[in-house]
Amino acid sequence: MSNRDIANLNAAKANGVPTGKILVTNAIILTMDAAERTAGSLLIDGGRIVAVDPSEEQVKGAAIADMGGKTVVPGLIDAHTHMEMIAYGWNIAVNVKPPLVKSIDDMVERLAEKAATLPAGKWILGQGMHYQNQHLAEGRYPNRWDLDRASAEHPMVVRFSFHINIFNSKALEVLGVDENTPDSDGGYLERTAEGVPTGVSNDMWHALNAPDWPYEEVGPALANAQASFLANGVTAITEFTLFRGGIDAYLEMERRKDLKIRVALYPKVPDVCPLEDALSGKIGARFAEADPSRLMLGGMKMFIDGGLTSRAAAMYEPYWESDLKGDLSFEPEEFSEIVGKLHGAGYQICVHAIGDLAQDVVLDAYAALPERKAANGAAHRIEHAGNCLWTDERAGRFVELGVLPVPQPPFIYTTAPGYRKNLGPVRGANVFPMRRMVMDQKFAVPGNSDAIGIHPKQHVPMFGIWAMVTREMNDGETLHDGENLDVMTSLRMYTRFAARSIGREHEIGSLEPGKFADFVVFDDNPLTVRPEMLRDMMPDQTWIGGERVFARDGDSTRA
Ligand SMILES: [Zn+2]
Repeated sequence: MSNRDIANLNAAKANGVPTGKILVTNAIILTMDAAERTAGSLLIDGGRIVAVDPSEEQVKGAAIADMGGKTVVPGLIDAHTHMEMIAYGWNIAVNVKPPLVKSIDDMVERLAEKAATLPAGKWILGQGMHYQNQHLAEGRYPNRWDLDRASAEHPMVVRFSFHINIFNSKALEVLGVDENTPDSDGGYLERTAEGVPTGVSNDMWHALNAPDWPYEEVGPALANAQASFLANGVTAITEFTLFRGGIDAYLEMERRKDLKIRVALYPKVPDVCPLEDALSGKIGARFAEADPSRLMLGGMKMFIDGGLTSRAAAMYEPYWESDLKGDLSFEPEEFSEIVGKLHGAGYQICVHAIGDLAQDVVLDAYAALPERKAANGAAHRIEHAGNCLWTDERAGRFVELGVLPVPQPPFIYTTAPGYRKNLGPVRGANVFPMRRMVMDQKFAVPGNSDAIGIHPKQHVPMFGIWAMVTREMNDGETLHDGENLDVMTSLRMYTRFAARSIGREHEIGSLEPGKFADFVVFDDNPLTVRPEMLRDMMPDQTWIGGERVFARDGDSTRA
């Protein structure tokens, strides 16, 4: 079938749902159902799969989508991402990452160029990267006085991760930050010997009331980020929205029918979604008008500690060659009480916990709940558990409590060297034990990226799969620890397991009758390509709800 035919076919819709039968055929279809069967054709009707390998009788009158022998897999699901941060990082922020920026002077120059185009008082956002201090000629992060050289008239903030944000003096003035500003629970401001904030903040974004950008800028930026997800075969995401305006931005995007990817939102409690709004149902009511198959409130996100990159993750033992042990964001009792209330209100809870102390505090809170599962049928989760500090004893507690650990596959490439440096030779030798978790301990670990727009491929599932299969790292080394996974297992994580991890296995995650016709077409079969090819495999087509939303040749997305 030509692209024009498919475009016409997609144009026949009722209430936004494609009508008429479509037979997807002449394909190697990896259904990823429980038996992981391979099929040759799929019959779609009304945006859903009606039959796998349908009978001649069933396909009568169907339009034919001939896939020319290509491989079809279920739509890939990113169970932990930040499309919103990517949108900011790629479209709103000034790029101050290497290789463009090699020194603080370069950074100041880039930011000054942007300032010259904007009226005084307008905020400027810069996007750097993790550990950029190690890549800058000065061997350190900039401070407020460095950034002041770019502008004293524009409030300015440069993000180096979600955790480390550096403000110039104008920004600190606008936000009312001075030597009397206290550190927040789990966050802190770097200060001079005299107590003056240097502009460097760790896990203080919300505590400092840092601003959101308006929808006129965020909407197009989100659409741009969405296009990249679709072009990489992602059909559904779990968005942990970290901006106060994030919920409104997604609702507005859905209202305008610009949202094509399926989004389950998990706003951060209490900064993005106040606890009272979660408990009263006020937050859910805001989603009443949205099509839940496209945009739903999935559950709630919390943080119990900071990032390992900023040495703010809460540990029992100090970081390597350091006295720092990180901090908890809540007192364990208070945290447990909030978790109990959120569970009682029916929410699935996903808690960021990187340090071993932090993970145990979350496990204790989950242990106190009356049931194991949330109302959506999914397990409560601990984000980043399994990235490091994974012991048999702790794994046993996850099993006993039915809690799902969610490590990040692409971090093997982007973050493992940093973890190893911060943890030292002993603790750092045990990072991303994927094989142990998925094959031996049988955790249904979901594929996910935690992408925030720093590495251009972080949000790409095939990149995450490549990282799990090869265990190559960005320092040129390979983790030769026998923890490699095979492609089929990795694919299962980005499909069925990811759907299960957000309580959506009944509608997405495999190609089976009754589920949405969300699938991706690859030229080659991921199961048989050479492992080094996985990293750059790009889909030929991406379909969501029986509608083709991406085609590599460009003649695709209908108006
Ligand atoms: Zn995250």
